Amino acid sequence: MVDFPQPGGCLCGDVRYRLLEDPVTLYACHCTDCQRQSGTSFALSMVVRNEALELVRGRPEEYGVTLTDGRVKQGRYCGRCATRLFTPSRVAGLSVLEPGTLDDTSWLRPVGHIWTRSAQPWVVLAEDSLRFEQQPGDEGTLALVRAWKGR
Ligand SMILES: [Zn+2]
Ligand SMILES: [Zn+2]
Repeated sequence: MVDFPQPGGCLCGDVRYRLLEDPVTLYACHCTDCQRQSGTSFALSMVVRNEALELVRGRPEEYGVTLTDGRVKQGRYCGRCATRLFTPSRVAGLSVLEPGTLDDTSWLRPVGHIWTRSAQPWVVLAEDSLRFEQQPGDEGTLALVRAWKGR
């Protein structure tokens, strides 16, 4: 268990923030959107209360784009080094933090994996992790929250 606040920021250091409390949950998303947007194989998503994020330096830029299929994607990033930092959640009052931007990432073990149906075939998921083939529903989301609390 780590102490809070936990400091973090973008690659160039223009934007610095503090995470003030333990997050709501942490999972990995293997959806093709996350693969494409990150340019890698999956994304770590840390759900936090908006109040738990405190900006201490700089001001992230905002983007909001409508994809070809009509879905809207938005988020905040550093305008100088393009590091994505966080995104407002579909759930009011919550944000999704890019947890790899925390200074200490040693405690970031996801309790679950979502969109496993599009996971890269070489990715090995921890035995004890929750798995969802697609986007989890309310019950699945609650399970992710409980698993994080009970870790
Ligand atoms: Zn930056
Ligand atoms: Zn995703």
